[in-house]
Amino acid sequence: MPPTTTPPKPLLIAGNWKMYGRMADLAELDALAAAVGGVRAEVDVVLCPPFTMTAAAAGRAKGGRIAIGVQDVAAIGADGAHTGDVSAAMAADAGARFAIVGHSERRAAHGETDAVVAAKATAAAAAGLVPIVCVGETLEQRKAGEAAAVVAAQVAGSCPAAGVVLAYEPVWAIGTGLTPTAAEIAEIHAEARRAFAAKFPGAAVRILYGGSVKPGNAAEILAIDGVDGALVGGASLKAKDFAAIVLAG
Ligand code: PEP
Repeated sequence: MPPTTTPPKPLLIAGNWKMYGRMADLAELDALAAAVGGVRAEVDVVLCPPFTMTAAAAGRAKGGRIAIGVQDVAAIGADGAHTGDVSAAMAADAGARFAIVGHSERRAAHGETDAVVAAKATAAAAAGLVPIVCVGETLEQRKAGEAAAVVAAQVAGSCPAAGVVLAYEPVWAIGTGLTPTAAEIAEIHAEARRAFAAKFPGAAVRILYGGSVKPGNAAEILAIDGVDGALVGGASLKAKDFAAIVLAG
């Protein structure tokens, strides 16, 4: 069955710095801003540095083409006695506009379930942030022919409402230099879109691809049917590489 909703535009290219970045690296943000300043208006550019840099990055990016996001938020919306957690409201207060939730590194290292990811997406949306909900199969699941079913189940379980952005990130492609074929990406994006449409009939959703997106493969990946942008890890750390990916869109 074909997808039931038309992919909305514009493209969204998001960078995830993970646990890298010092204040001196704001120079990369400045360089990125200079490089993508003239990019066509149909491309949204988001950069997600660590929490320690959120406010400074947002201040630096203000009024330009780059929106700042965070890489996670607490599942709890209200302030409270939650040592070490950062709420979505705090992230928004610091100037963030997007929040990655459910990244596979957090699902694996912190035991985050679909229910936890959905709670985080709810908290992010309530604070006015756009949740970028990550889904994706492991290599074992792909080898077992379960990729489409795993992703469909994660989409159903991790998306609490329409209004999110989805990121399909095969776990085995993250940071490995490996990527699925164009046909495999198109197949899973169509499956994710079907699962989303089944839960939220008529709602459009942007679906990003993530996993070893580089300047050398970005144009090909962004041209795949159903790919509405990219979530970029390693290659977002250097302004030159990330700008090349943005400009490939
Ligand atoms: C990621 O961490 O979301 C990611 C896609 O990483 P990389 O681009 O380095 O594979």
